[in-house]
Amino acid sequence: MRTGSFEPGEKTLLIDPKGRKYLVTLRPHDKFSTHLGTIPHSEIIGREEGVALRSSGGATFIAFRPTFAEYSLKMKRGAQILYPKDVATVLVWGDLFPGATVVEGGGGSGALTIALLQAVGEKGQVITYEVREDFLRQARANVETFLGKVPHWVTKLKDIYEGIEEASVDRVVLDLPEGWRAVTHAAEVLRPGGLLLAFFPTVPQLQAMATAIEQEPRLRLQEVFEVVHRPWRIQGPSVRPEHRMVAHTGFFMLARRLTASS
Ligand code: SAH
Repeated sequence: MRTGSFEPGEKTLLIDPKGRKYLVTLRPHDKFSTHLGTIPHSEIIGREEGVALRSSGGATFIAFRPTFAEYSLKMKRGAQILYPKDVATVLVWGDLFPGATVVEGGGGSGALTIALLQAVGEKGQVITYEVREDFLRQARANVETFLGKVPHWVTKLKDIYEGIEEASVDRVVLDLPEGWRAVTHAAEVLRPGGLLLAFFPTVPQLQAMATAIEQEPRLRLQEVFEVVHRPWRIQGPSVRPEHRMVAHTGFFMLARRLTASS
């Protein structure tokens, strides 16, 4: 459930007076403990989001359901996740729409998968290729903890460089080391007008991808860009950027499938 009062078994995010966030699974007889004291879960279960709770040490914590961004940063990782700012970018630049069929290359920890599944909805479908069984297991646990059952998700323990089995796909999204090795397969399965969006941390990867797209007559390179997210802090009169930030994650490359030439 994403609304209503807190229920046993679900995740809650407890925020301490300094803004530190703790992700907690609610269990009736358990208690949350930090250096600021403890809070029995029974004081959270049945309450509304936004409730203020006093710990045994006298500190006030606020309980909310984690947003997707908060959850993805806190969930257990197999592979490195795609950061929320980049996930957000995939959804708009990748033009994900309800009902779309999306092939995802590299399931990783499932952060991007959650967002794709939400965007396409149950009338759409996400097909995730992942070569590591342990990552796929972790991704499934992460996805189902956040979304519950997801009948519109298909996972394949397969190497996407060897081929994509689907046809007439609306979007192919790649977050894996050698995305250029899947370019021909993406061109093969994308419908005309379909979109290929790939993400890479380094410039040589971007170059290899650009070359592969330029050599593929069915695809047209559209955009290359990165997204910078600079958080700010407001504390009384001190209003300024945070001292620390995630300064680099990666670059996006976007291409579109042309219609077959007559
Ligand atoms: N977007 C993911 C992170 C992906 S990390 C998230 O948000 O959590 C890259 C993943 O690609 C890793 O899990 C890796 O095992 C997988 N991978 C690497 N090569 C692959 C291939 N050829 N086919 C399918 N998956 C691959």
